[in-house]
Formats: sequence, structure tokens, C-alpha cells
Amino acid sequence: MKYKFKAPRGTQDILPNQSEVLQKIERKIFEIAKRFGFSELRVPTFEHTELFTRSVGDSTDVVQKEMFTFEDRGGRSLSLRPEGTAGVVRAVVESGLINESLPLKVCYLLSCFRNERPQAGRLKEFHQFGFELFGSSSPVADAEIISLINYLFEELGLLNIKLELNSIGCSSCRGKYIDALVDYYKEYKNDLCETCLDRLDKNPMRLIDCKNTTCKEISKSAPKILDYLCDECLDHFENVKRFLDEQEIKYDINPYIVRGLDYYTRTVFEFTSTDLGSQSTVCGGGRYDGLVEIIGGKSVPALGCGMGIERLMLIMEAQKNPLTVFEKQCDIYIGNIGVAALEVCNVLALKLRKAGFCVQTDLIGRSVKAQMKYADKIGAKYACIIGDSEIEQGKVLIKNMQDGENFEVLLENFVDKFIEKIQ
Ligand code: ATP
Ligand code: MG
Repeated sequence: MKYKFKAPRGTQDILPNQSEVLQKIERKIFEIAKRFGFSELRVPTFEHTELFTRSVGDSTDVVQKEMFTFEDRGGRSLSLRPEGTAGVVRAVVESGLINESLPLKVCYLLSCFRNERPQAGRLKEFHQFGFELFGSSSPVADAEIISLINYLFEELGLLNIKLELNSIGCSSCRGKYIDALVDYYKEYKNDLCETCLDRLDKNPMRLIDCKNTTCKEISKSAPKILDYLCDECLDHFENVKRFLDEQEIKYDINPYIVRGLDYYTRTVFEFTSTDLGSQSTVCGGGRYDGLVEIIGGKSVPALGCGMGIERLMLIMEAQKNPLTVFEKQCDIYIGNIGVAALEVCNVLALKLRKAGFCVQTDLIGRSVKAQMKYADKIGAKYACIIGDSEIEQGKVLIKNMQDGENFEVLLENFVDKFIEKIQ
């Protein structure tokens, strides 16, 4: 019996022409990360489940509803990572990197898994590029992370990106705020959605960014966290804004940004795009001063952000960004007819590949006509066909596929002459 398999819903294959484009973009992101002093760190795809329940928070949607959790043979609970920060913090604590010279700046590109309902811009397996900065409680660090993303989006040529900024205070000012929130929403108990009713007990801050229309309407008049910030948090926020102003980075204050994960403190931000439909956030982040300690390290202030690569690609494609154009890569096609020619051809191809050129040859035994057609199809810049007569005469005609002009080179110094001719 023949089976026909399909990729599971919410996953995506990345085909060669797409991965070429992705690699180009990812290289650019890594390059910019480096300029800001961030080095790549790689962590495992799954972690002990407690890592996420402790850090992301066991009353968050991500942990409660969206994690892929399974048991190992010893009955210990493991989960596929729903985000990058928890694993990265675990790794810098476990390796002791966090005890070395600070600030520590790391970045990562990894797949994340969330059991969400798939839709445009929302997948079960997606990829995040993230940045984490450890060891600075200064607002200048908040501004640097934001400035990095802002510059990155500029370099990638993204248009119409909006930066939205908020502060959610610290544990001391948040207490009073949460009391006020609960008091406010209690009045609307009969109108709130079921999830929000549950949140009212477990995680009242999350009520603020509920997407349900009625809840959204109710939230419009809810108390705003910015009115409850303590002096230190207010001062921190004012300084973040000042540093952004000085760098001429535009932002909107959005009191409805609270972020979905529990570990955030003070600054939170989102970069959004109108080209993403309802999943409008391409990058989200903020400060998480208590997280390193929660995960077992000493108390080290930290902050970071995560950017969804699939959403970034959606924006770039919608905007017809030049970086998304797939460029075929074949400098020369060296075809052959006959056994003797095949050997010569293979040797020449290897020499040229070692010299840094992208070379393709015939691996199928096609006719001359079919080989030239194939050379054209793969976008070869130059093409030649070596047969018995070329070997006999010791020379071959190379065709410039763009203008149709031919030039002749000797087989004995093929590589040198080819390079000389095309320069
Ligand atoms: P959303 O508001 O879309 O639910 P989130 O607040 O859950 O996002 P974060 O945990 O902040 O997202 O993750 C950072 C980024 O990762 C998001 O801004 C987004 O670009 C991307 N992302 C999150 N969840 C998904 C998903 N299911 N599919 C694709 N990308 C995602
Ligand atoms: Mg989400």
C-alpha cells in the first residue's frame, strides 16, 4: 500500500529556494548582532518541564495550553521549548558564564514549539532569533536592545514598523496595580470571557491584552500601570525614553502591552507591522530582572527580546523586499558527451569548485541540447560542453549565457583562463 504523507498542521518545510533567502537574512542578523557584541549560544530543543513552569510561569497560556510535554523513560517530565529565554538563562547559569565578566551578551536562532491553533503567522513550530543581555540594570541597556532591533530592521529594509513601549513596573509597584485591576474587573465579572475570569484569579495583568472584543472594550477604561509605577521604575522608564529620543528612535507608549510571559519587569516592548494581519507582533521583549535568580543563579539583572523569523519573512515578502529574491547560483555549467569527456569534465569541475566557483555538471547523461537547456534553467552564467573533438583539439568554447557570446579556452589551463576571461 502506498502512503501519502503530509507535514503536520502548523509546521512548515523550508524548500531550497526559501532557505537560500533565509540564510542570507540570518547571516545579516548574526553580523549585526556581532557589531553590538552578541555571540551565538545554542541550547537543546527540550528541557525539564519545571524550567518553563518556573520561568515562563505556570499560569500563562504558553505553559498551561501550548507546551508539548512528554515523559522520559524515568518518568521525568520534559517539554519542547516554547521560547528561547528560559533555556538560554539555564545555560549561562549552568555553565558559569553568568559569573564571568558582565555584561554578558548572547544571541540565538532556534525553533520553538507551541501547541496553538495554526493560522497566518502562527505556527506550532516556528523560529525565533533572540538576544539576551545580562548584568546591567541601567536603562541604557534597555535602550541598546531596542536600538539593536530598530537598526536591524532598518538594515533589512523593513518598512512601516512601529515600536510600542510600556513599563510594567517591579514587584513592589505591581502589587498595588494588580489590586486596582482586580477591583476594576470584578465589576464586569458577568461580561468577561471565560479565560479572563480565570485570569482574574491567577494572572490579572493578562486581562489587559485579551483579544476578545468585549474584554477589549472593558480594558479601555481599566487602570493603567504607568499611573502606578514607583519612583525608581518611573525614573527608569523616563531614562529609557530619553536614550531612545537621543538616538532618534520613534516609539509609541502603549499601556496595553503586558507580554505573555511571567518573567518580565519594568520595560516591555513590541515591534509591530501592519503587514502581518492580526498576528502583528514581529519582535517582543523586555527586562526580566528576577529570572536568573529564579533559575538558580545569583541575582543578575537581565533583559532581551525574541523575533519571529516566519513573521519577519511574511513582512519582507509582503513588502517585496529585495533580500527575498532567490538568486540562482551557478557560475559555470560544464557539460559532457562521451566517457573520456566525463573524466576531464569532473576534474575541471573540482578544480573550479576549489577555486571558489559554483559548478554543475551532467549527472544524467543528457543530450547536448538538453544539457544546454538545463544550464539555462539553473541560471548558469557560463556553459560549455566537452566532447571527443574538444579533447582531441585540447580546447573548448565557453558560452556567456547572458549575452550569447563565445570565447575559447585551452583545456590545459582551463581554470586560469576562465578566471582571467570573466574578470
Ligand atoms: P503573540 O502575541 O503572537 O501570541 P507572543 O507574545 O506569544 O506572541 P513571544 O512569546 O513574545 O510571543 O515570542 C516572540 C515572537 O515569536 C513573537 O513576537 C512572534 O514574532 C513569534 N511567535 C510567537 N508565537 C508564534 C507562533 N505560534 N508562530 C509563529 N511565530 C510566533
Ligand atoms: Mg502567543
